[in-house]
Amino acid sequence: MPADNFFEPISNNGNPPIYRYFNGASWVESKSGKRIAIHSPIDGSVVGELQSVTKEEIDEVIARSVEAQKKWEATPLNERVKIVHLAADWIIHYQDQLIDLLVREVGKPVGECKSEIKRTAEFTDYFADEVQSIRGETLESDNFPGYPKGKTAIVSRVAQGVVLAIAPFNYPVNLAGSKIAPALLMGNSVVFKPPTVGGISGLYLTRIFEKAGVPEGVITCVTGAGSDIGDYLVSHPKINMVAFTGSSDTGMAIAAKAPMKPLMFECGGNNAAIVFPDADMTLTAKEIIRGAFSFAGQRCTAIKYVMGFQSVLDKLLPVVTELMKTMIHMDDPRKEETKMVGPVISVAAAEGIERAINEAVSEGAKIAVGGHRKEAFVEPTILTGVKPTMRIVSTEVFGPVVSFITIDNMDDAAAIVNSQRFGLQACLFTTDEGTGMRYASLLNVGTVQVNSSPQRGPDHFPFLGVKQSGVGVQGGHYALEGMSRLKPIIINEPK
Ligand code: NAP
Repeated sequence: MPADNFFEPISNNGNPPIYRYFNGASWVESKSGKRIAIHSPIDGSVVGELQSVTKEEIDEVIARSVEAQKKWEATPLNERVKIVHLAADWIIHYQDQLIDLLVREVGKPVGECKSEIKRTAEFTDYFADEVQSIRGETLESDNFPGYPKGKTAIVSRVAQGVVLAIAPFNYPVNLAGSKIAPALLMGNSVVFKPPTVGGISGLYLTRIFEKAGVPEGVITCVTGAGSDIGDYLVSHPKINMVAFTGSSDTGMAIAAKAPMKPLMFECGGNNAAIVFPDADMTLTAKEIIRGAFSFAGQRCTAIKYVMGFQSVLDKLLPVVTELMKTMIHMDDPRKEETKMVGPVISVAAAEGIERAINEAVSEGAKIAVGGHRKEAFVEPTILTGVKPTMRIVSTEVFGPVVSFITIDNMDDAAAIVNSQRFGLQACLFTTDEGTGMRYASLLNVGTVQVNSSPQRGPDHFPFLGVKQSGVGVQGGHYALEGMSRLKPIIINEPK
């Protein structure tokens, strides 16, 4: 059983606490003397302060990480597996602390924080089980035309080396764990750069992996603004792979600075819902509400626009509006009765969402529901009469807003989806699965959901984006494979 002072070293335990970064061996304050105050989106109160590390400190952390990785990869897999299982157990053991912190730090409703933490523990366990089925293969030369027997390729999977893991604010625990666990299991060391807002939760998660027995240097956590330390980290010659989740703009900027490094990127999305005339309107409405408004629409998989014939949207809108009254309760995210919508991440973000709504209205859209903002709280909003070229659709507006777009024939919906810069997911609603299958093949997105809102998971399903929504594949064994590379050794029979 872990001790009660488990998290004590990670801060000075002041009020508010000043958090340290983890250099792989100990929890330390940065020589920069620069700190970043983390304000709760709920009421602006300071949750704590994070260090802003220097380039020299990054160099030191990465050097330790390089050194430790070799020994870690040589550690028997069954020992690595035990450590990761223990980390999963301790995520659950400390879930109340993690949930309380997450709610305050990112303003996510408590119910959704509970599922983020539970799911992180569940997939950490799953990865630790699944890694045992990852294995190489042997190939014989004579399978290829013209080759005699005599060459055998033993193809094994080896670690990439030092993986830089960068997580976003909206799932700072889940989307950190989904990189850290598979990277460690495949024998990599991890340099973790948490988001600034959400960074405290990231430090707690790091502490859990450290205390579960990840050896010195194999996991490290450096804090600081992405705009300040990010470029230095991603372009560092000793970083062998970058695993990133965040916006498409940041992702593309980072990709350009990490030439020839393997990338696993999950980026932005503006996911469509396409409603066929035969759809079950109640199911469709429920999924659109969940899809558009969970965590105040701050999800890469959020539904951002709904398309259908005018007659279909006319039937759907009143069902959605009615169900929103019971499915959503906008309030303080710490209250159990709050459902789906608390504050967005900051007042500045809320103002940006409000501007995007007003701009759409000035271009002819109508507000059917919501539209108001108070501090960081934006009412769940439905816009009608939206055109696909309006900024509210063509960019990722990260808030509780969904746009209804009328189409004249069903093929137009596919053309609109395919014209977007994003390609994460799309969803179709129809009672005919054959229609769903046929139409799904027209859509150039990572995943198509038939009769469900877009989502990541179950976590062993592949999760990927096309176009500017990402590169590489996450989820279950796909992530484990992505965190490793093939290494063939070819045995040539003596002539
Ligand atoms: P963001 O602003 O792009 O930041 C993401 C992460 O990148 C943060 O840790 C950020 O650090 C860091 N960063 C910023 N500039 C950097 C640089 N130059 N070099 C290296 N790292 C840098 O995204 P966000 O606002 O946190 O998250 C929301 C976005 O993530 C949305 O676009 C959403 O769709 C996307 N997302 C995608 C998925 C998916 O699975 N496809 C899942 C969740 C979220 P700081 O916080 O210090 O700036």
